[in-house]
Amino acid sequence: MNRQWCSNRGMDTIEYDEEAELDKYVLAYYPNLMTRLEALGQKAAFAEQKAENTTSKAMADKLREKWGSQNNPEVVAALSKGVEIFRRTVRNRILQDHADDVFLNRCPECDKLVRTPKAKLCLWCGHSWHEKVPDKSETNSQ
Ligand SMILES: [Zn+2]
Repeated sequence: MNRQWCSNRGMDTIEYDEEAELDKYVLAYYPNLMTRLEALGQKAAFAEQKAENTTSKAMADKLREKWGSQNNPEVVAALSKGVEIFRRTVRNRILQDHADDVFLNRCPECDKLVRTPKAKLCLWCGHSWHEKVPDKSETNSQ
């Protein structure tokens, strides 16, 4: 099964980073497992990233004022080592405290984490594990 090597040719493939994928996956699909502080930190982190990416200083100020962490010393502390580290800490905490609640949907073929908990298609190797739908033409013979 070397198909994935061939299909990489000429394509801009993103390298699989288990840690980064786990961060994205857990925070995107299990926000309900965050503590209040973690959720606030996540909002502040989003706002900060948006603020950094906007060219308008007024907009950046507004974002920081609305969602920023400056009013909450706990959030400031949580984010003090940077957004990436904050997210990784939250993700590890969720995986540790809620191991039974988090379904890590892995590709049966390459064992990589796929895009969503319900995905049945692996974008890393192209493997698809959709259950076979019964063929309608067999039962619908009228
Ligand atoms: Zn796969």
